[in-house]
Amino acid sequence: ESMVVFHTAADLIGLAPRIRLELEQPDYEHIFYITTQLQDRLVPFRGEAAAAYERLPASVIPNRAAITPLFNGKLILRPEALRSGSIHVQDGTIRLADQGLYRIQPGAFVRFKAYRVQHNQARGPYKGGLRFHKAVSLDLFNALSAEMTWKTAIADVPFGGAKGGIRMDPREHSKEELEAISLRYMYRLKQLIGPNVDIPAPDVGTNAEVMAWLLRQYSDGERERVNHRGVVTGKDVRIGGSEGRVKATGQGLAYCIEEWYAQRGAPLAGARFIVQGFGNVGSAAAEILCRMGARCVAVQDADGAIYDPNGIDVGALMAHVNDNPQNLRRSVAGYSGAQAIARDDFWSVDADICIPAALGDAITGEVAERLKAKLVAEGANRPTTTEGDKVLAERGISVIPDIIGNAGGVTVSYYEWIQNKRMEHWTEGEVNARLERAIKSNYRLICDIAEDRPRRSEDHDSTGFVLGKRLPMRLAAMVLALKRIEAHYMLEGFSQ
Ligand code: GLU
Repeated sequence: ESMVVFHTAADLIGLAPRIRLELEQPDYEHIFYITTQLQDRLVPFRGEAAAAYERLPASVIPNRAAITPLFNGKLILRPEALRSGSIHVQDGTIRLADQGLYRIQPGAFVRFKAYRVQHNQARGPYKGGLRFHKAVSLDLFNALSAEMTWKTAIADVPFGGAKGGIRMDPREHSKEELEAISLRYMYRLKQLIGPNVDIPAPDVGTNAEVMAWLLRQYSDGERERVNHRGVVTGKDVRIGGSEGRVKATGQGLAYCIEEWYAQRGAPLAGARFIVQGFGNVGSAAAEILCRMGARCVAVQDADGAIYDPNGIDVGALMAHVNDNPQNLRRSVAGYSGAQAIARDDFWSVDADICIPAALGDAITGEVAERLKAKLVAEGANRPTTTEGDKVLAERGISVIPDIIGNAGGVTVSYYEWIQNKRMEHWTEGEVNARLERAIKSNYRLICDIAEDRPRRSEDHDSTGFVLGKRLPMRLAAMVLALKRIEAHYMLEGFSQ
């Protein structure tokens, strides 16, 4: 491990303080006045405000994108506006150059701890997700960035490993605040990021929308913006994202599970699975496995757990989680199509496959003791503790380790990055065909290492190392990763 160097970049980013300006007698004339005075110093409007705003006559608003009138005539100003000559703030009031006086409610100034850890770039630019979550830390990103180094090597994509994020709960912020925070993140870390340097992607708490904000901030004001498209992956398909990227992690996991069953000559159709976490990874994996004929018998998330031995309707559950405005926490709890069970009882539900697809350290020794499944397929990063691993091995439960199990995401990130470079757009069929080939062949390589099977001579990855003993899958995956990374150090040499 001495060849691995840690670079850490922890930083503080601040959410710009906002001043809420309430016009005591809101009228179009004032909105017009403020628009012309402040021009682009006003925060662009979003969401509901936009709808109300659209109804204003065009003659009143010369610069639509530059102003945010809320329903009752509130405006949100950028702090720069307050420093301009035309506005004066004093004792909770704001005075415009026309002498009009307005009451203000100062917005809170909040600081967030933000991180990017770049672990290794022997195989190519740093690559890895951005996590917005209240429990992240430098230690966690150190560990997760190393995982990305192994994962990109196993996926055999020309990237290294990185990970980053911000310590906060995205559910506690408005979309507008999340945008401000994301822009600020890229603004502060821009020197470390780039399409050939370090390429962020979605992870827990982030999505295509966050990627779009990061892209905008990164390429803002640059001349050759087209060359910057690949600075983030996991973008919306309409702005350079890849078909199949949203579901890629779940899809890759499903391919691994399919291969596990194929190797044993057992049918996946009819197999029962339980899934922890119903976010991007868990929900896509569940949907795809159901399409392959498997049955989802229990789902657990941070707020509850549900159970149906006859199979949960995953499509209906997705609608409950994603499209139900009453379901603010986007939880599976409260879904009426299945029986509610205690969160803790989830682990002992009778099933063939257990899919942890939430956060780390879910499968402890104690949880591993209670599992009924014969296969644990890891969708999350580091979901099994060391103790948990030991118990799974003792109990003869198979593991598809995270660094191959969830490598579908970064694999399609690579396809997205190539498409951006070549200015191409591949069909979903093409993407999935490539993904299936890549994931299954890398998975088989790991199985061969684990079983200590010699490979054919054209498999340059593993020729020449028959180890003389069998290895657990997680260790075998690490062997493959380290072999592929080692080649770069052995053949290119160390530049200290
Ligand atoms: N966050 C995902 C992971 O942990 C995807 C990373 C990427 O696409 O760069 O693998």
